[in-house]
Amino acid sequence: MINLISDTTTKPTAAMLEAMMKAEVGDDVFGADPTVNALQNALAGMFGQEAGLFCPSGTMTNQIAIKTHTVPMDELICDHTSHVYRSENGGYAYNSGIAIKLIQGTNGKITPDQIEASINPSFDWLPKSKLVVIENSCNIGGGAMYTYNEMLEIKKVCEKNGLILHLDGARVFNVLVETHDDAIKVGTLFDSISICLSKGLGSPVGSVLLGSHEFIKSARRFRKAMGGGMRQAGYLAAAGLYALENNIDRLSIDNQRARELGECLMNQPYVESVRPVQTNIVIFDLKKDMPGDVFLEKLKEKDIHAVAFGPQTLRFVTHLDVNQEQVEKVKTILNQIR
Ligand SMILES: *Cc1c(COP(=O)(O)O)cnc(C)c1O
Repeated sequence: MINLISDTTTKPTAAMLEAMMKAEVGDDVFGADPTVNALQNALAGMFGQEAGLFCPSGTMTNQIAIKTHTVPMDELICDHTSHVYRSENGGYAYNSGIAIKLIQGTNGKITPDQIEASINPSFDWLPKSKLVVIENSCNIGGGAMYTYNEMLEIKKVCEKNGLILHLDGARVFNVLVETHDDAIKVGTLFDSISICLSKGLGSPVGSVLLGSHEFIKSARRFRKAMGGGMRQAGYLAAAGLYALENNIDRLSIDNQRARELGECLMNQPYVESVRPVQTNIVIFDLKKDMPGDVFLEKLKEKDIHAVAFGPQTLRFVTHLDVNQEQVEKVKTILNQIR
């Protein structure tokens, strides 16, 4: 089976499982799991942040960040395709009681001008503009990425207007291997950062939230309230540490394979358009005479699996469990489909 559904579908390798088996563990609710602490410190160090918090999912790290940064009646500013808006069950409202201001960005990316224009004046009847969330890379945006300089300009607008800036960096390493931007320079632009270990990095479970000591102290309390305090979580954190050591550099291979698939799709008569492929995600639209479900079925017959993002819109994601041979096979099949 060739799985282009998501980079969340990877299974741990034998070497990763071995690292997990060997983990030294303790009770992380007491802060006493040495492997969890090592993972949190490693990621905080990589991004120039003071502290980290290991959580079960990227939804939880985003939700805790929003909760920690805001009070009810505040407003969050983000692109209309953001994960925090579309894919977390409206958790910003449910968990934090805040409002949201959606920006019509381009491929998931928003500009400093758009942010500035969406700040509410301070009237009694308007929610208080408080927090900006950007995604890098942008998932629904087709893996589009921000460079350091673009993020710096966003940071400046936030600073000027007293806004807090959170990075949903679920796939930030797919970006950094492309831009070669310095992780510490990027990391210190943000008040908090969420990083997924279970996407391209290939861990089975887990995300880490990064921020100041004070922020993480408060975030720990919310993690407990949300039921995310885990005990001998070091077995899972060990997978994350293994991934940081072994699976970062190779993400450029995934990005390259996505570009190959994108180029192949662009040459097909049944493809209307392909969004610019910058990282490991390819989003494309089919022409009217090739319905999305029919196309998916044709792929499935060849044991190639992907998902639809709309009736005519599909997504391919490359990852650890898609090798070059499989990419070649997909290209061959794409060239045959009519
Ligand atoms: C996957 C993802 C998350 C977190 O999702 P979980 O499944 O909860 O780990 C957050 N943001 C983006 C952009 C994502 O793609």
